[in-house]
Amino acid sequence: MKTPFVSLEQIKEIAKEYPTPFHIYDEAAIRCNARALKSAFAWNKGFKEYFAVKATPNPAIIKILKEEGCGVDCSSYTELMLAERCGLSGTQIMFSSNVTPAKDFEYAAKLGAYINLDDFTHIEYLEKLVGIPETICCRYNPGGHFTLENQIMDNPGDAKYGFTKPQLIEGFKLLKAKGAKHFGIHAFLASNTVTNDYYPTLAEQLFELAVELNKETGANIKFINLSGGVGVSYTPEGVPNDIAVIGEGVRKAFERIMVPAGLGEAAIFTELGRYMLAPYGHLIAQVLHQKHIYKDYIGLDACACNLMRPAMYGSYHHITVLGKEEKPLDHLYDVTGGLCENNDKFAIDRMLPEIEIGDYVAIHDTGAHGFAMGYNYNGKLRSAELLLQEDGGVKLIRRAETPEDYFATLEF
Ligand SMILES: *Cc1c(COP(=O)(O)O)cnc(C)c1O
Repeated sequence: MKTPFVSLEQIKEIAKEYPTPFHIYDEAAIRCNARALKSAFAWNKGFKEYFAVKATPNPAIIKILKEEGCGVDCSSYTELMLAERCGLSGTQIMFSSNVTPAKDFEYAAKLGAYINLDDFTHIEYLEKLVGIPETICCRYNPGGHFTLENQIMDNPGDAKYGFTKPQLIEGFKLLKAKGAKHFGIHAFLASNTVTNDYYPTLAEQLFELAVELNKETGANIKFINLSGGVGVSYTPEGVPNDIAVIGEGVRKAFERIMVPAGLGEAAIFTELGRYMLAPYGHLIAQVLHQKHIYKDYIGLDACACNLMRPAMYGSYHHITVLGKEEKPLDHLYDVTGGLCENNDKFAIDRMLPEIEIGDYVAIHDTGAHGFAMGYNYNGKLRSAELLLQEDGGVKLIRRAETPEDYFATLEF
C-alpha cells in the first residue's frame, strides 16, 4: 500500500494559490527519516550524511537536512554555489565529481570541501591547480560485477567512475609524497538497492581495501564514504529498506575488519540522495483530457519534463487518484503528458479507478531525481516546488517557470 501524504481537500486548497503541476515535499517525514539514519549510525563517532544535492537541489530542503546534521555532496560548480549560499562550507561539503573542470576544483578547494578524486590523473591536475590538500579522498572501482547472494546488482566494470585497485595503491603513495596526510575511500557500486545487504557488503569491501591500503602505503584512513545507492521501494508491494538493520550490518563489518586493524577511529560517511528524499515528494497533476482510441489515455498537465524517470528508465511510479483512494482499480489506462514523444507516459497499462477530467493525481516517490531532472523540451516549463511544513502550512520553495524564463537566454 502507498498512501499519499496529502488529501484531495488539501490539494484543492493549495491549487487555488499554486496551480498544478507542482512537486510537494513533506518536511516532517524528511526530518524523521534523517533522524533514523543518524541513529542507525550513532555507533560511529564521526558519522555524517552528505546529502547528494543533485537529487533535490533546493535550498529549503538542504537547510532542513543541515538542521538535522547533514552536509552536502556536490559535483559541479553551481551545486557548490548552492551549498555556499545555504551556509555550508569546509568539511560540511563533499565534492564527488568526475570529468571535473579546473574552476570546479578551484572552487571546492576555496570552500575547503573534501575533494573526492575520480581518477589517477586528477592527482596531478589538482596539484597544479590548487596543490594537494591535507585530507583527500579517492573513488574506487573494483571492476567486474557487484553481486549480492550470487545476484548481479550492478556492473562497475562498465562504469566510468573511479580508480582501479593498482591505481589506488599508487595514487595513495603519490598523494602522500605530495603532502596528503589523511585519506578517504569512496565507492558507489550499485544504484537504488532495495536490500539491507548493500551497504554492509560494500562496507566490508571498502574496509578490507582500507586495511590493505593502510598496510601497503601507510596512509592514515580518516573516513570511508559509502556514497549513495540505498534505494526506496517504488512499487506498493516492495519491502522498504530498514536503515537500523543496515547501520547494524555496517557496524558488525567495522568491528570485524577495521577495529582489529587499528582503524577504529575512521568515520563513516554516506552520500544518500534517493533514500533521503524520494518517498517524501509527490508530483501533483490534474487530468486535462481523456482519449479512447486503441487504448484509453489519461492526459495530465504534467509531462516528462517534470518527472523524467518513467520516460528515461521505464521506472514505475505509483499513482493515486486523490479522493478515489477507496474506489476499485477497475480501469486500464496509460497516463501521459503532452510532449511530442510517445515515451511521455507516467504509467502504461495501469489499473486505476475510473478517472474524470479535473481529477487530481499524486505521483509518488518523486522527492529525489524528480524535479531535479527537469528540462524544457517542447517549450514546457519547470513546475513550482512546495514544502508541506510541519505545522501543516504550505510554503513556495521554488516558483514555477514562466515564458520569460524560457526566453531569458535567447537572442533575437
Ligand atoms: C548520484 C550520487 C549519489 C546519490 O545517489 P542516490 O542513489 O540518490 O543515493 C551519491 N554520490 C554520488 C557520487 C552520486 O553520483
